Amino acid sequence: MSNCIFCKIATGEIPAEKIYESDGAFVIRDINPQAPVHFLAIPTRHYPAVHDIPQSEMASVMGALMDAVREAAKAAGLDANGYRLIVNSGDIAGQTVPHLHIHILGGRDLAWPPG
Ligand code: AMP
Ligand code: ZN
Repeated sequence: MSNCIFCKIATGEIPAEKIYESDGAFVIRDINPQAPVHFLAIPTRHYPAVHDIPQSEMASVMGALMDAVREAAKAAGLDANGYRLIVNSGDIAGQTVPHLHIHILGGRDLAWPPG
């Protein structure tokens, strides 16, 4: 999508350090971190939110995303103590970038329930 910041990062139009990259997904650091480690796992293709992924593509998209989560979390040492994954999907959840992404948060105690 032409006006999407994560699509521009995916194509390299906006430079960003990619911590992990595969055919289907990549991981970057969140620009406004909410924890000592705050990554975003992002599908290369543009899907605004969870409900916009066609059923026929769901397994490959989510598989690529979860592989990206595991590799980035392990590389950052988060697999030892754990971490939190968050997907804000839609307005009520506070989604601000309408290109599906999984937040990966770790490196501190994470309170529950979230706000
Ligand atoms: P959400 O509110 O769930 O849509 O999350 C969007 C996240 O993207 C926020 O945590 C932002 O800080 C982050 N973000 C926005 N622009 C960038 C960028 N250029 N590079 C890295 N993270 C970004
Ligand atoms: Zn996009």
